[in-house]
Amino acid sequence: MKPGRVQLRRVLLLAALATGALLTVHVAFHRPLGVAGEAPADGYFRIPAVFHVHTTLSDGGGSPDEVIRAAREAGVAVLGLTDHNNLDAKPFEGYRDGVLVLVGSELSTPSGHVLGVGLERDPAFRFNGDGLDALEDVRLLGGVPFAAHPFSTRADLHFTGFDLPGPWGLELLNGDSDARRAGPRLLLTAFCYRLNPDYALLAAISSIDPVLERWDRLLAERDVPGLAGADAHSRLALTRSRALRFPAYQALFRQARNYLLLASPLSGDAGADRRAVLDALAAGRFYIGIDALAPADGFSFTVENQEGRRFTMGDQVDAAGRLRARVGGRVPQATRIVLRRDGQVVGESASRIEVPLPGPGVYRVEAWLPGWPVPWVITNPIYVFDAATREARRQRAAWPGPPAPPRESAPLVFAAKPPFSAEHDEGSTMEQSVVEPRTGPGDADVYRLGFRLAPPGPERRFTWCALVNREARDLSAWKGLRFRLRADGEYRLWVELRDPNPASADEGLEWWMASARSSTEWSEVQLPFGRFRTLNPRSDGRLDPDRIQAVVFMLDHASVKPGTRGTIRFSDVGVYR
Ligand SMILES: [Zn+2]
Ligand SMILES: [Zn+2]
Repeated sequence: MKPGRVQLRRVLLLAALATGALLTVHVAFHRPLGVAGEAPADGYFRIPAVFHVHTTLSDGGGSPDEVIRAAREAGVAVLGLTDHNNLDAKPFEGYRDGVLVLVGSELSTPSGHVLGVGLERDPAFRFNGDGLDALEDVRLLGGVPFAAHPFSTRADLHFTGFDLPGPWGLELLNGDSDARRAGPRLLLTAFCYRLNPDYALLAAISSIDPVLERWDRLLAERDVPGLAGADAHSRLALTRSRALRFPAYQALFRQARNYLLLASPLSGDAGADRRAVLDALAAGRFYIGIDALAPADGFSFTVENQEGRRFTMGDQVDAAGRLRARVGGRVPQATRIVLRRDGQVVGESASRIEVPLPGPGVYRVEAWLPGWPVPWVITNPIYVFDAATREARRQRAAWPGPPAPPRESAPLVFAAKPPFSAEHDEGSTMEQSVVEPRTGPGDADVYRLGFRLAPPGPERRFTWCALVNREARDLSAWKGLRFRLRADGEYRLWVELRDPNPASADEGLEWWMASARSSTEWSEVQLPFGRFRTLNPRSDGRLDPDRIQAVVFMLDHASVKPGTRGTIRFSDVGVYR
């Protein structure tokens, strides 16, 4: 080889080594930036809170105790546990280790995952409904709902329920999606993680511009709180049985947090503090800060009116009169603060902004640091509108009420006497007498599903109790199925329609299911055919209302807890449009 080539290779090798060494030093010594400026004087206490956390009670790697310890060590004051589709962490709720623990759940629905933060109690029913059902369950249980990881790269996790009614908020940051979207940069993350886990997680963060854009579109219609979700699992599955404990809970809890703005510090009374936290969350009285970039606990965004009254994030401000926005606080030197009105930039400056507001609108702030694809701070908006617009926006955020009596309805005509037969698996039991004549509203006949659902076991994986009617009928002239429902408790039951599908294993029938929740009062249930869905892998893709072969009301271990016994009654089973 020519001496020149050898020289060149040496130089290249040295350059590569030097770059590697520099990168190592850069990573190992990366620390959050320092902040300077006046501490905020808006009268609020900033409470660092982390939500959307999984434990070993679903697919997380750490026990609730371990996760709570990690939260305390990371300086988190409020920890929102949200295991998948259960509230098994309820025994850990309250003050633990100095951390206020709220237990909620992340509910899987066909529209994506719905985060229910801070659910009051663990009900007898299981969460198995669609997106609308999940939101109603969160409302029933006094929690605050958020659409989780709206732009996950995994199609099955992607949120598609943007048209769902109600005041649900939006997860703007999601620790798990970051890792998934990082792609080849995940290699860098893996390399850096041992040197400096905080930096490594930062390196995996991608732009959230599409989420912010979607948020602005939702905000044009109604108030929408924006949340940072940790989506902490600390468990990276390698194979079916092997998993890595990565990333550590503590590293994720240090990375990004929600700073709740509370009028007084946490009191230590778990009930009162829980209420204050959930109120702040529902109102959007908080901002998101990526503390791994720089400590964000000194940020402030207020609007002041002529009388000197000051408003903060989540507040609604009357648009009349002169209003001024003030943004600032303790920020790093190179910060660029951006004030947005209805998504458009109306003010931009280093370290602080003080400007008159140009008119009504949704005002929110981002604070950017050079070189990072996401804002260091994202505030929830201050809403500046006249009374009429405020009221219209309030109505658009309202939970859907109970269904109005249908415009037109007809009872299902049953040939069989009694119309339903009680059927169940071998372990479960049911009352065999299913009709209570003329005891329902308006003297209607009542059908009774008296059940004791056996727990599933090795010999019986599927346990169920059902009322079944197998009569062919054409319901194509109607919009959906309706009935009245009452029970001795809150249960979710499956309402099932079966139609022909020769490819299906179930005697050539395909089962289409929708979920309904009972209460102890009679309530009207209306299930449009479009809400019925199937799990059949050989589905023909659509329910055929003109060829219904069976109408079934069923409970199984996916709809109520195994071992549950109770009585569900329904009447006026019919169709509507
Ligand atoms: Zn999820
Ligand atoms: Zn999750």
